[in-house]
Amino acid sequence: MREYEYHAPESFGRLFELASADGVESRFLAGGTDLTPRISAERNQIPRYKKPPLRILYLGALGLDSVTDAGEDVTIGALCTLSSLLENAVVKAKLPALHEALTEMAGVSIRNTATIGGNIMNASPAADSVPALLVLGTECTLRSASGERRVALAEFFTEPGKTVAKPGEVLVSVTVKAGRGGSSFKKLGRRKAETLSVVNAAAYVELRDGVCEAVRVAVGSAAPTVVRCADTERALVGRKIGEDSIRAASSLVEKAISPIDDIRASAWYRGRVAPTVVARAISAAAERKRG
Ligand SMILES: Cc1cc2nc3c(=O)[nH]c(=O)nc-3n(C[C@H](O)[C@H](O)[C@H](O)COP(=O)(O)OP(=O)(O)OC[C@H]3O[C@@H](n4cnc5c(N)ncnc54)[C@H](O)[C@@H]3O)c2cc1C
Repeated sequence: MREYEYHAPESFGRLFELASADGVESRFLAGGTDLTPRISAERNQIPRYKKPPLRILYLGALGLDSVTDAGEDVTIGALCTLSSLLENAVVKAKLPALHEALTEMAGVSIRNTATIGGNIMNASPAADSVPALLVLGTECTLRSASGERRVALAEFFTEPGKTVAKPGEVLVSVTVKAGRGGSSFKKLGRRKAETLSVVNAAAYVELRDGVCEAVRVAVGSAAPTVVRCADTERALVGRKIGEDSIRAASSLVEKAISPIDDIRASAWYRGRVAPTVVARAISAAAERKRG
């Protein structure tokens, strides 16, 4: 049986020292809602070779759980739980797409422990916070023993379960642009709660006299990573936003996606519903701007 160690360091110095020790494999733990089931599954397997001890490094004692409102930008600590963000007045007022995504994520018990940083670092193509954060022009701040760096969320994911973060780098926060447009998030799941998305989508729309001046559209659970829909966006800029223009632009989403069959839905079904989910997100974002 593999050996397990648990640590809850209170400083980054100690965290990086523990993470870089020789002869152990380390993994960061936030709320544990993705990681714990994975470790449990691993413990139930008969190992084919002896694995080094697994050092679990809890990030919750590092003070990464605050939200800072700097006017145009809102910085969210990676260890903020989904519940705390759902109740946060700044998130609700300034980042409606993210707020809507949070209302659709899991159920109360999971939201009370799951963190925004864990949702991002898990790098699932179905992660619900990601399309919302993507259309809101988010940047991620990563920290390691050699300092901090910022990476645009648009360049963050490389494949399912993988990000550009190097081993030992911690996501400390995300900086999200409030923008002057309207934003929205829509999700299609197999149930109303406690379920991952079959397809999800988010949109950010800036309007002048009903004409689209700027738009960002992202769709999730329909490609190896969450993707921006460039053709849909191009088809809307400079056009009056209405049912017809939204429907025509949303049908172009198929150019951005490459859905697969999995336990939640077939590739065919995902391809059929993605334009509708995208259209709903664009329509709600535009409505929010008008209203
Ligand atoms: C019943 C159930 C329902 C769910 N429903 C949804 C849903 O509707 N939508 C959805 O998107 N997800 C859902 N999830 C998945 C999960 O709850 C979320 O992805 C959650 O946000 C993960 O956060 P966490 O803090 O629990 O991450 P953890 O499990 O602690 O970590 C996840 C991964 O990220 C790494 N990590 C965590 N934080 C950091 C950090 N700051 N820096 C570097 N690495 C880090 C960990 O090492 C691990 O690899 C559900 C899960 C369950 C069990």
